[in-house]
Amino acid sequence: MEEIKTILLKHGFTFKKQYGQNFLTDGNLLDAIVRDGGVGADTTVLEIGAGAGALTRALSAQAKKVVALEIDKSLQPVLAETLAGCENVEVVFRDFMKEDLPALEAELGSYRVVANLPYYVTTPVLMRFLEEAKACEGVTVMVQEEVAARFTAKAGTPDYGAVTAAIALRGEAQITRKVPRTMFYPRPNVDSAVVRIDFEAGRIPVRSESAYRAAVRCAFLSRRKTLENNLVNAFRISREQAKKVLHEAGIADMVRGETLPPEALARLADVLFEAGMAR
Ligand code: SAM
Repeated sequence: MEEIKTILLKHGFTFKKQYGQNFLTDGNLLDAIVRDGGVGADTTVLEIGAGAGALTRALSAQAKKVVALEIDKSLQPVLAETLAGCENVEVVFRDFMKEDLPALEAELGSYRVVANLPYYVTTPVLMRFLEEAKACEGVTVMVQEEVAARFTAKAGTPDYGAVTAAIALRGEAQITRKVPRTMFYPRPNVDSAVVRIDFEAGRIPVRSESAYRAAVRCAFLSRRKTLENNLVNAFRISREQAKKVLHEAGIADMVRGETLPPEALARLADVLFEAGMAR
């Protein structure tokens, strides 16, 4: 295959910064990401952002099927060339954030996500899989290094936040490799890392996932405030009621939400649910 750069040039493609278009070209790195993603001959892959198709092609060589979404229709002639002969690939020119995920899942069956995510929308894309997906087996995504640090942070550290707690409900996030900025074309201003999350149903048991989300929102409402204060503000309850909730959840007074591991947030969620404060 001709160099990706030559193909882009030939088709007069102009990069659109607003879409986070930083493409990969190195064959060894692409193969390594496919391996990191746990892709095998039985795997259906959903890729968000086909770009010039380099990762799509590498995925196609190992996977049963690849469905790749791409927002930028001007990549159509480029992808027609780079994915020629990849019979198991379907490229869909749509915005993933507007996608009907249940309808897409009905078409895919069980699937894994593997993607070099556009930086401007990394967390919202991941949150959709964490909160809405029913048939997703796992997500392996290239993200900015500092975002990878947030995804994999431990409770009580500065990087630990609402997204870390949301990930913990589904699986454990692991950095599988660091990728320097020099591996992208055009070169971004930051380094990146690949993060893999294998989804395990019921990993942290909760009575209600939406109550868990409410507990997480409350815990991180104001990082500087105690959880008790955040409970008072988030649920408009008295200080005594907030103390009672904490006591029932086995959480000490005066703690700040950011120090609570996901298991403690799950206990808080169950108490909020049973008290009818969260559904
Ligand atoms: N997969 C390619 C690679 O690794 O070289 C491209 C990765 S590039 C970082 C991200 C791609 O996502 C771009 O091609 C961009 O146009 C596309 N994209 C951005 N926002 C999107 C969205 N909301 N839905 C689908 N694709 C999107």
